[in-house]
Amino acid sequence: MAPALIGDGTSEILYRNGNEEQRRTWLPRMVKGEIRFGLAITEPDSGSDVSSIRTTAVRDGNEWVISGSKTYISNAASADAFMVGVKTNPQLGAKGISVIIVEADRPGFRRGKRLKKMGSDAADTGEIFFDDVRVPLSALMGTENEGMKILLGGVNMDRITWPLIAHAASTRAFHETIDFVKNRKAFGQPILEFQNTRFRLAEIKTELAVGRAFLDEVIRDYIANGHLDQLKCAMAKMWLPEMEARIIDQCVQLHGGAGYMDEYTVSRLYTAARLHRIFAGTAEIMRVIVGRTI
Ligand SMILES: Cc1cc2nc3c(=O)[nH]c(=O)nc-3n(C[C@H](O)[C@H](O)[C@H](O)COP(=O)(O)OP(=O)(O)OC[C@H]3O[C@@H](n4cnc5c(N)ncnc54)[C@H](O)[C@@H]3O)c2cc1C
Repeated sequence: MAPALIGDGTSEILYRNGNEEQRRTWLPRMVKGEIRFGLAITEPDSGSDVSSIRTTAVRDGNEWVISGSKTYISNAASADAFMVGVKTNPQLGAKGISVIIVEADRPGFRRGKRLKKMGSDAADTGEIFFDDVRVPLSALMGTENEGMKILLGGVNMDRITWPLIAHAASTRAFHETIDFVKNRKAFGQPILEFQNTRFRLAEIKTELAVGRAFLDEVIRDYIANGHLDQLKCAMAKMWLPEMEARIIDQCVQLHGGAGYMDEYTVSRLYTAARLHRIFAGTAEIMRVIVGRTI
């Protein structure tokens, strides 16, 4: 299948794994921005270890009955529907997971509180609850008990999207900082003229070039092969957000006190960047994935 490149993680998951009816029902409205999806995997007692999720879907006649709860879900407050990771065979661990589409207006579906975060305030994040929510059997995506494959395919897309965002944010911070140090003066000269400033900016410029080269390689492969390489996505998700952390931390430093003030872009980039090492698979889980190949 050719690369979709149609937008965010959820539309990609639907494009690749939805049946014809699901694609026709949801995709046009998703890409037009008329409806919004959430991807609900994480639970209060299971994040990195997806195989331990406890939300269940049980067959009852021609319906699934879903019970459980999810937390830290992006778009929890605003999504019209969710792709929900559920256990359809709890005895089988990771091999008993399926993905089911649940609309937010189904009886028994409830949104919890909107969680207060250190940054990324433009996106809502929160809890959702399923109290015997009934959906038709046709809401299942892909094959029953093979949901891990769907989720892993989806996370690969996430794991290249967030490195790209990390690179873009670092680049933004770099340019913001150049503007700042050209204009801000200390000891009678622009901050840019201190050798330390040029050294730090030289390091940032080089890291950005190295990161870009690797991202280009992953994307070239994707375009050529039609699928994302899991190992390279994990490497990118491990390295780029850590590069971003080093760069933006240095950019804040070069701003002095201004860097700690939210009216300066680097301050907001700093708190937003902290997330990138945590979600869509933590930096440690990426090391586990890369480490397995050694
Ligand atoms: C803003 C935000 C938005 C999010 N959006 C979504 C969403 O839309 N949908 C969704 O399903 N989830 C979402 N998440 C959840 C996110 O994916 C999880 O927080 C993340 O996967 C980590 O899980 P956890 O928080 O349970 O941490 P844990 O898994 O409890 O990890 C805690 C620490 O232990 C480490 N650790 C765990 N296992 C290992 C191991 N094997 N080896 C070494 N170290 C390990 C972790 O790396 C981490 O440092 C979001 C989170 C945030 C913060």
